[in-house]
Amino acid sequence: MRSDAHQKVKPTHLKRSAYLYVRQSTLRQVLENTESTKRQYALRQHAIALGWQQDQIVVIDSDLGQSGASAADREGFQRLVTEVSLGRAGIVLGLEVSRLARNSMDWHRLLEICALADTLILDEDGVYDPAHFNDRLLLGLKGTMSEAELHVLRARLQGGILNKATRGELFMRAPIGFAYDPAGRLRLDPDQQIQHTIRMLFETFQQTGSAMATVREFRRSGVMFPRRIHSGPRKGDVIWGKLEHSHVLRVLHNPRYAGVFVYGRSRVRKNLDGDCKVQQLPREEWHTFIPESHPAYISWEEHERNLKRLRESAQAIGFDRRKSPPREGPALLQGLVICGKCGRRMTLRYHARREGLCPEYVCQRKGIENAEPLCQRIPGADIDRVVGDILLELVNPVTLEVALTVQQELQSRLDESDRLRRQHVERARYEAELAQRRYMRVDPENRLVADSLEADWNQKLRALADSQQEYEQRRDQDRRLFDEEQRSAILALAKDFSRLWKDPATEDRDRKRMIRLLVEDVTMIRGEQIMLHFRFRGGATKSVVLPNPLRIWETWITDSEVVSRIDRLLDTHTFSEIASTLNDSGFKPGRGNRFTGRYIARIQKQYSIRSRFDRLRDRGMLTLKEMARVLSVNPKTVKIWAAHGLLQAHAYTDKPEHLYEPPGRDAPRKAQGMKLSLRRPVSAIMPDCSNEVQYEA
Ligand SMILES: [Zn+2]
Repeated sequence: MRSDAHQKVKPTHLKRSAYLYVRQSTLRQVLENTESTKRQYALRQHAIALGWQQDQIVVIDSDLGQSGASAADREGFQRLVTEVSLGRAGIVLGLEVSRLARNSMDWHRLLEICALADTLILDEDGVYDPAHFNDRLLLGLKGTMSEAELHVLRARLQGGILNKATRGELFMRAPIGFAYDPAGRLRLDPDQQIQHTIRMLFETFQQTGSAMATVREFRRSGVMFPRRIHSGPRKGDVIWGKLEHSHVLRVLHNPRYAGVFVYGRSRVRKNLDGDCKVQQLPREEWHTFIPESHPAYISWEEHERNLKRLRESAQAIGFDRRKSPPREGPALLQGLVICGKCGRRMTLRYHARREGLCPEYVCQRKGIENAEPLCQRIPGADIDRVVGDILLELVNPVTLEVALTVQQELQSRLDESDRLRRQHVERARYEAELAQRRYMRVDPENRLVADSLEADWNQKLRALADSQQEYEQRRDQDRRLFDEEQRSAILALAKDFSRLWKDPATEDRDRKRMIRLLVEDVTMIRGEQIMLHFRFRGGATKSVVLPNPLRIWETWITDSEVVSRIDRLLDTHTFSEIASTLNDSGFKPGRGNRFTGRYIARIQKQYSIRSRFDRLRDRGMLTLKEMARVLSVNPKTVKIWAAHGLLQAHAYTDKPEHLYEPPGRDAPRKAQGMKLSLRRPVSAIMPDCSNEVQYEA
């Protein structure tokens, strides 16, 4: 350290803290480059040698593992700048200035602020006072050099990569189905099973034309798909697992399967917030495109054809899957629904009905990924109605009135916490006064002691200011009592809400925006009933149970006269017989023109009318099996006898299936060789089913 270092350090600097800024770009550097980290921490000793106390040195190391290229995400660097600008820093310590900021703009800003706040800068070469022109020039140069160094480094790396890519020699991870040979050329994977599976994938897609169907076909035939592990102890191993939708898309989109070497298919842009955005480029803007650079599974033409087919079917599948912004459709909960069975986000389908678009919430993500049936689907019309009701119930003048009253009640109890916080401020003030008295009492000649006491006093004053400020902030927050005017404004707003909500001129999109202000998400499970769990902003929850919606035919209304007629007719007739009787008498069903057997069956079920089977059983009729047992013959024989009038049979379905009257004393018996027609006269029997009998059920 140069000898003039001590001349630059003044008591005013020593009274303030020293800030040691420690940074390594990547976590790897943090782990491996421990030497540099040690050197950064060693600067602490320099500061102590210059006169700072051990406890005055503040270490800022929250940026370990962050890149220095921009200050945007570097919380630590921002804190450093803040501390300096508040005049709390006497000196800033950093290993090389390059460690402080890799970006010239950040660096010069820090220098300027240091100069204004009279803060020194210390690196391994010495102490600088940015307020001095010479020092500032030197520091500026150091910063520029450091940025230039970074630029050259990057240019060299980037240039090397681009050159190699242009020649098609850049080593890139081989997609599954390919492997590098010892000479470093990309070849088809020597493992025949892998090759075969990849080919099968392309062939299946060729036949089916859809990624989904390809997955289904693989699942059906039980064929597994290979995946190579790229890191960890099992690096290079191939594991076989079920083919997923995303695998198919990845293979189909990758031009390397068509033997093409490509580089630069996407571009990364950094925006002002420091976020990265990946942009896919059109084919003409790719950096490198070398056809036939290695063996291929398919031709380039086929690759393009595949992409075209994917694009065509993409609309049917659609995007989603994140919480999506409100769109035009009428479904109120679009983008907010979570499947209660598997936890994925549910998507929307609309069905065109006579009444307009009818929403349906479906959970299809897993189904698409694994070519399985949908997880669950829930009709949305009723749900949307319920959501509207809940919101109107939540945001109405009465509930708000209650909420406001509770709020007021709570605030009246705030005095207690206010008293506690005030005590805290009092304590800080007492300590500051104590430090002041100590400082006043010391002999001014005893500079060393005086300085440290003054520093102590300063610190206590700062603590006092902090707690005073905090106290006032909290008090302001607490004291926001609603006066009468605000109160009525809020209540008017609630009235407005219900008016706005019901107004037909309000667009669905705006209704959805309103919902998003209130609702965090909704979980749905469909079982015997539909369960909805609402999570509102602010943590409140609400559960709602809805009945499963009626099937369409359940909503058709049948005349009560018709229902009672059906009830009577069921004593003697089957469904289709009743239907034709009703049609003949000129009755009309609730929907459509004519009754049918099935329609009558539904009405019987819906109105819980006693079935014909039960009625016949009530009258003591036997089933085919029972009859066969009573007569000790084969069921077939029972049918034949019934058909020839030896037994009394009554149809209870349109098939028809029959129940039989108990045989009584003159039951037919087996008599070999005797003609059936001679055993009993046909005329006396079977009024119900003369020609409907069939011999095999
Ligand atoms: Zn699900």
